[in-house]
Order: sequence, then C-alpha cells, then structure tokens
Amino acid sequence: MSRFNQPLSGNDMPRFAGPNTFMRLPSAADAAGLDVAFIGVPMDIGTSWRPGTRFGPKAIRAESAMLRPYNMATRAAPFEHLHCADIGDVAINTFDLKDSVRRITGFYDEVLAHDVIPMTMGGDHTLALPVLRSIAKKHGPVGLIHVDAHADINQHMFGEEIAHGTPFRRAYEEGLMDAPRVWQIGLRGTGYGADDFDTARGWGFHVVEAEKLWLKSLTGLAGEIKAAMGDAPVYISFDIDSLDPAYAPGTGTPEICGLTPPQAVELIRGLAGVNIVGCDLVEVSPPYDTTGNTALLGANLLYEMLCVLPGV
Ligand code: MN
Ligand code: MN
Repeated sequence: MSRFNQPLSGNDMPRFAGPNTFMRLPSAADAAGLDVAFIGVPMDIGTSWRPGTRFGPKAIRAESAMLRPYNMATRAAPFEHLHCADIGDVAINTFDLKDSVRRITGFYDEVLAHDVIPMTMGGDHTLALPVLRSIAKKHGPVGLIHVDAHADINQHMFGEEIAHGTPFRRAYEEGLMDAPRVWQIGLRGTGYGADDFDTARGWGFHVVEAEKLWLKSLTGLAGEIKAAMGDAPVYISFDIDSLDPAYAPGTGTPEICGLTPPQAVELIRGLAGVNIVGCDLVEVSPPYDTTGNTALLGANLLYEMLCVLPGV
C-alpha cells in the first residue's frame, strides 16, 4: 500500500466508470499536502478562430481514464514518488476574459502557497499568462519550453492586449521569464512577416521552427535545452497544435506539417532532470475531433510530463 494517492485501477473499477478526474485520481479541495495538482481551465473566450477549448479539461480527463500508472518505456512510476490529486477547475467568468485572467492568477496564487507543481489542462493559450504571473511570483523569472505551431507574441489582437495569441509577449514584457532560457519549438505556418518569429529572437528566445525538426529525433534538442536550463526553475507550456493536425485535429488554429507524437514524447522524455515547476497542455478543442484522439494525445503528453517531474 503506497502512502501516495493512486489512480483508480482498471481492475478495481471499469475504465468507463468512476470519477472524471485526471487518470481517475482522488479529488482534493485544494493543493495542501500535494506534490502535484491537476487543474482544469475550461476557457475558450481568448480564441481567435475555432472555439471549443472550454470542453478541453473535461475531455482530457475522460480520455485519461485509459492511462495506467507505470511508464513501460521509461520505467517511471510517478505515483510511487509524488502525491497527486485533481483539484478541479478554475471558475472562470465565461463572459469576461480580463476577469477570467484575474481569477486564474488568484486561483494559482492560492495553489502555489503550497509547495506543489501545477499541471494545467486547457483551455485556450491565454491561460499561460495568468499562470506564469503566479509562477514567477513564487519562483522568479523562469525558463520556458513553449511547444506550439505559433509564437503567441502578437502585440494586440483587435486592440486587446490579452488573447490566446499574445501571452508570451506580455509575459516577456512583465519579466516573468528568463529570456535566454526560453525555447519556442514547432513554429510554422503562414505569418504576417518575418517579425512574427524573429522578434522573439531579438529578445533572446531560442526559436526552433517545425521544418528544422522534420523527420528528426528531438532527443538531441531536449538534451541541448536541458544542459542550458541548469538547475533553475522551468515551466513547460505545450500547445496541442504543435502536433500535426493529422494527430491533433481537435484544436482551434491547426497548421500543417507539425510534430509527430513520437517527437513530442522524445522531447518530453529528454527533459528528465530539468527543474520543472509547472506544466500546461492547452488548446484541445473536443468539438473538432469526435474521435477523442486529440484529447487522448493531450492526456498522454500530460502523463509524460508527470513522468519527468523532479522526484520521479
Ligand atoms: Mn499557443
Ligand atoms: Mn498554437
């Protein structure tokens, strides 16, 4: 009998039954006593194209019911080392994005009053800004591994400073990240001009476009990032649209020629040993993928991130 919370086993309760928590872990009212807190941010009002990410957390939790606790490939057994629970959803204000952003920071400030790693299920990518505000309050400016088809560094969208295409410009302006330790990986697609990707290079970010990664293993890139991060705190923000829409069609702003699932898993697995202080998996829009495969992929990528957290 472990002293840590365990996901409900498929041999004790059928996988199609039981609680709709991440991996059918126990629910908790708050993060007290936890090492890892799974949190849903059911928001899509920061989206600029297809909506639906408000249903992301519910679908990721549903697909996570298939996950078993032991990682056969890496031999990680996260639930033998970390006390994990699902602490539910942030009560966003679905009629007001700015208020939602305030509510998210308020929620994460309370979570981070405890010594806990938040694992966030999105939700559109706007949420990375309010989460990083809380993370930086606790840990100082963090290294960032941002995996995405898009740079998300727009100045404005329809005159608004806050939207799902602006979080990393705002986070940079607010000093929430240590710019030389920021990697943007998987960027591609059409743009408005070279500045779309090059501006962030001017800030010191490392930008790795998708085409530089085509048909390649990402293990080497992960090793390079790991070496550069040192022991300082790192946040991972994983937009599911970094994956090719063949694998992840259920997302708001799909772009062709993206990463493959094995590449995404190689990248994450190569980060074992990095001082990860928080992770998110965003932009899963279940209405655009009735197979559930996008949410299944999202659930598995969160699990892989869990398997490389410090202490596992
Ligand atoms: Mn994004
Ligand atoms: Mn994106």
